Amino acid sequence: MVEGQLRDREISDTRVLAAMGRVPREVFLPPEWHGRAYDDAALPIGEGQTMSQPYMVARICEELALTGREHVLDVGTGSGYQAAVLAELVERVETIERIPALAERARSSLREAGYDRVRVHVGDGTLGLPEEAPFDAIAVAAAASGIPPQLYEQLKPRGRLVIPIGKRRVQRLQVVVRSPEGPAVLRTVPCRFVPLVGEGGFG
Ligand code: SAM
Repeated sequence: MVEGQLRDREISDTRVLAAMGRVPREVFLPPEWHGRAYDDAALPIGEGQTMSQPYMVARICEELALTGREHVLDVGTGSGYQAAVLAELVERVETIERIPALAERARSSLREAGYDRVRVHVGDGTLGLPEEAPFDAIAVAAAASGIPPQLYEQLKPRGRLVIPIGKRRVQRLQVVVRSPEGPAVLRTVPCRFVPLVGEGGFG
C-alpha cells in the first residue's frame, strides 16, 4: 500500500509514509472487509458511511504539514482510521463524528489499536469543537459547499484546514491557511467524499 498507492502517487512526507505503514487498517473495518483492508479504495463501515481511501488519508495528512507538536481536530471520525494516523503524527488529536454508533465503534477500534489518547466526540463537526480550540490544523473527511466559518475561526494564526469543497458528488480538496487577510487557498486536489451533514455542511 505504501509503495504502490502512496509513494508512487507523490506522497513524499516520510513521517506520513511511516505512519501509514504502522496503523493496522483492518482493525478499523467490519470483519467481512478485513481481506480488502489495503485495497486502493474507500470501504464500507456501516451507517451508509465509508473509511476513506488510503491515498486520501495520506494526502490530507501531508497537506496539513504537521511536524509533531500540534493539536489537531479531525472532523468526520468514521472508522477512526484517519484519527489513528494523525495520532502517529502529532501530540493531541480530537475527532468528532455526528453518528453516535460510529463514534462508539471508532473509540473501541482506537483503543484496540493502542490509540487511547485520541479523544472521540459526538456532535456536528461543522461547528468545530469550541471548547478545545484553537487548533494548529483541522482535517475534514466529508464534503461541504464552502468553508464552514466556525472551523476557520477555530484555527490558530497560520493554522491549516484541509477540506473537500464542491458539489455533493465531486469536489476538490482545498488546503486553506488562516492568514491576516483571510482564508488563503494554497492548492486544490480532485477528490470525492460523502457529504458533510450539518449546520455548516449540506444541511
Ligand atoms: N476519515 C474517516 C475514516 O478514516 O474512516 C472517514 C470518514 S467518512 C468518509 C465521513 C464521516 O463524516 C462519516 O462517518 C460521516 O458520518 C461524518 N460526518 C458527516 N457530517 C458530519 C458532521 N457534520 N460532523 C461530524 N461528522 C460528520
